[in-house]
Formats: sequence, C-alpha cells, structure tokens
Amino acid sequence: MEGAATENSVANMAACYEGFDPEVYLQKLYSATETYLDREDGNARWALAQLHRAFTEGDVSGELLLDVGSGPTLYQVMSACEVFKKVILTDFLEANRRELRLWLQNEGGSKMNWTPFLQHVCKLEGRRPSEWTDKATKLRQVVTDILPIDVHRPHPLGPDALPLAVANCVTSYFCLESASPDLGAFNRALIHIVSLLRPGGHLLLMGNLGETYYFAAPGLKIPVVTLTEAQLCSAVKESGCSLIRLEVFQRPKYRSEEHNDAAATFFVKARKN
Ligand code: SAH
Repeated sequence: MEGAATENSVANMAACYEGFDPEVYLQKLYSATETYLDREDGNARWALAQLHRAFTEGDVSGELLLDVGSGPTLYQVMSACEVFKKVILTDFLEANRRELRLWLQNEGGSKMNWTPFLQHVCKLEGRRPSEWTDKATKLRQVVTDILPIDVHRPHPLGPDALPLAVANCVTSYFCLESASPDLGAFNRALIHIVSLLRPGGHLLLMGNLGETYYFAAPGLKIPVVTLTEAQLCSAVKESGCSLIRLEVFQRPKYRSEEHNDAAATFFVKARKN
C-alpha cells in the first residue's frame, strides 16, 4: 500500500513539472536583479561564494562531476568547470536540457544572459571581470553531456547512460526537495544519487530549509519537502556520506515570498564513505 501511495505522489510531483517553462524560470528567478546579484548580502552572492570556496579548497577536483537536476541553469558549474575535466549536466525535463544545449551551443538560441554571473565568479577567482568570455569558453568545453535523469529511480540515469559509482563529485542544487513529495522520497532520492558517486568522492548539495512551496513561474506553485537542518544531516548520513560542512544563510529580510517561503538556504559538503 505504502509503495503505491509513494508512486502516486511521485507521479503528482512529475505532473507539477509539466507546466515548467525554462525561459520563464530563468527570467523570474535568475535575472541579475531577481537574484540580487548586485547586493553584497544577496542570496546569489552567497551561493556563488559557497561554490567558489568548495571548488578552490583543493580536495574537490578530478575527472568527472555530475550535476543532478541542473534545470536550465549554469551558475552552479562556473567554479567547478575550472577543476573538473568533464562535467555532465542532467535534468528530468527535456525543455530544460534543451535550454542548456542552446546556451552551450552558443548560436544565439538561448535568451539567457549569464554574463553577470560569469563576471562575478571571475572576480571571486581574482580575475578581471572582462575574462568572463574565457570562462564561458571553458564551460562550453568542459560540459560534455546533458542527460535525462529521474532521482526517484534507483539508477537515476538509467542503466545504459553511465555506470554506478562513476563520478568523482555529485552536486545537486534546489532539486531534491523540489522534486520529492515527502521526506521519505527525499531520503531515497539522495541515496539514489549518491550511488552515482565513487567512494571517497564528494557530495555537494544546496537547497532550502523550512520551505513549503516555490513558484517556478507566476501561477506555477510547486510544493516542496519542508526540511530542517537535523533532517538534512540525517539524510546525508543515511546516504552513506560523512558531513564535512553545513553552511546556512538566513533568508534576507528584504526578500518577499513571491518566489518561495524558505526560511534559509543550506550548503552541504560531504564525502562518500
Ligand atoms: N538546479 C537548478 C534547478 C532547480 S529547480 C537551480 O539551481 O535553479 C528543480 C529542478 O528539478 C527542475 O529543473 C526539475 O526539472 C527537476 N526535477 C523535477 N523532478 C525531478 C526528478 N524526478 N528527477 C530529477 N530532477 C527533477
């Protein structure tokens, strides 16, 4: 009975994503103004700073990084592309994979302007903002594949795409809590994605705490798993990883609940046992 109920609610979550429009999502959530990239205390700067730190500390680098539930976004691999030979992006929706392909092909098919993000990450690296074009080129070289994924399957990529335990680093940002109907499904999804990671490899997660919904577009309210720090830490442990660091960014006072009702954003760095 429980199995059938879970399947049903996973199917309900998938149905929520039928209305997901990458262009609207990017415009509403990732325009430089919406992310407050200009604000010292903004969430975008916090997120980019976490990623910069993680990928310049020295222990997270290697052959293959797999980003789970990339959506139509690329901010999340702008630091990583400097220290991994190969990056594979993944998403559940073909529309998101298509948007990623359009930007990476660089033939004018994508309307998204990632330049302010690329410039900011260059600054974090001590480079001139004008070097953003080098970073864009690097990103386009390093991302070798964009694959379909379903975190609710024990082998999220399907057996034919990639073997299990293949990646040196698995990252997933704002995906698992946004794709899972309940805490049980979130915990299982984390176990599924950790199966793609080599023992000793790193798991990096970012997402929201205390959130009940987010708007992927005006009128498209997606229910999410409401997580606490304790639940998150226990999920990481149960997935077979050891927590290295948990950082929490409290929701800035100036932020309205137009996009989501999260209390805070978390960043986790962990290592597979
Ligand atoms: N990582 C991006 C996108 C987060 S939005 C960012 O940081 O903005 C949540 C993403 O989860 C969407 O792209 C959606 O397509 C994806 N998703 C939804 N259901 C999923 C599933 N079952 N498996 C994997 N990804 C899923």
